[in-house]
Amino acid sequence: MPRAHNFNAGPAALPEEVLEHAREELVDFNATGMSVMELSHRSADYEAVHNEAIAGIKELLNVPEDYEVLLLQGGASLQFPMIPMNFLPENQTANYVLTGSWSEKALKEAKLLGRTKTGASSGESNYTYIPDVKDIDIDKNDAYVHITSNNTIFGTQWHNFPQTGAAPLIADMSSDILSRPIPVEDFSLLYAGAQKNLGPSGVTVIIIKKEMLKQTPDTVPTVLRYDTHADKNSLYNTPPTFAVYMLNNVLKWIKRHGGAEGMKKRNEEKAELLYHTIDNSNGFYTGHAEKESRSAMNVTFNLPEEELNKKFLQEAQNAGFTGLNGHRSVGGCRASLYNAVSLESCEALQTFMEQFQKNHG
Ligand SMILES: *Cc1c(COP(=O)(O)O)cnc(C)c1O
Repeated sequence: MPRAHNFNAGPAALPEEVLEHAREELVDFNATGMSVMELSHRSADYEAVHNEAIAGIKELLNVPEDYEVLLLQGGASLQFPMIPMNFLPENQTANYVLTGSWSEKALKEAKLLGRTKTGASSGESNYTYIPDVKDIDIDKNDAYVHITSNNTIFGTQWHNFPQTGAAPLIADMSSDILSRPIPVEDFSLLYAGAQKNLGPSGVTVIIIKKEMLKQTPDTVPTVLRYDTHADKNSLYNTPPTFAVYMLNNVLKWIKRHGGAEGMKKRNEEKAELLYHTIDNSNGFYTGHAEKESRSAMNVTFNLPEEELNKKFLQEAQNAGFTGLNGHRSVGGCRASLYNAVSLESCEALQTFMEQFQKNHG
């Protein structure tokens, strides 16, 4: 059985080498006579994996000394309320830049917990673009400014980040973390579920500036406080040990493939193939995103009629391409090209798209 051409939006493709490696050591990890899942999370064998994963993120993203890397659970979705619980005092306003469904969800949670505002939004155009950083309304009373670096559902991505002055910049990077280099020092907190670019679901990576850890009010419950997890090296409670093990091995794979720079080059090359096909299809394929806001991670497009969208998705499925349907909230088609998706899969999809147009255009 050949591996599928996997364009799933998340959970998504994992590097085959990493899966093979996991299979090899599944029943006997590091001569312990146990799988990594069966080890105590307090054992030296597990702790080595855990610490290596944290060190790997620090190295690959050039994380400055005054930041902590945390490995938590609950997905990006738990970060939505945790951020305002920890960082939104009563006399301040949380500033959310709306660029898609995930930023709307993040804002919805903050609204339950305090005062919020929308510093900028591309909602009026159905999120086809990223607002100009100069147009974001940032105020000195903003508790923080929250952005979503890549909009998984609409297929847009920030290509430069706002300078927010005294207001801490916070980013949901769930669908593009480690797909490219980023200036971590511009952010006070960034977070990402692992299941798109870094591993399986179950572990969420947080990179947080140490000075943020002191701000949490005393009333926030222990497990929902960032300082709890920072103080305990993300071992306050049982971590998702197998997910952390997989994360660690994906990080090593990223390192072998040129790190963040290597991923950027690889991802841009993949995305370019599909955008080239869309742009040269004489309007047969139309991209959802405006060109300058296009995402290298999620390529969203439509065919001339709904019937053709359906036919395209059906024929693609029959030809061995998985996960090309757009998100249920927007429809159309979407190819997710996260780190582990190969250039060969993208070339095969490009050929398929060109052939489909010849047959139905
Ligand atoms: C997938 C995704 C999420 C949701 O992540 P969960 O781990 O399911 O909570 C949030 N934000 C963005 C940008 C995403 O792509």
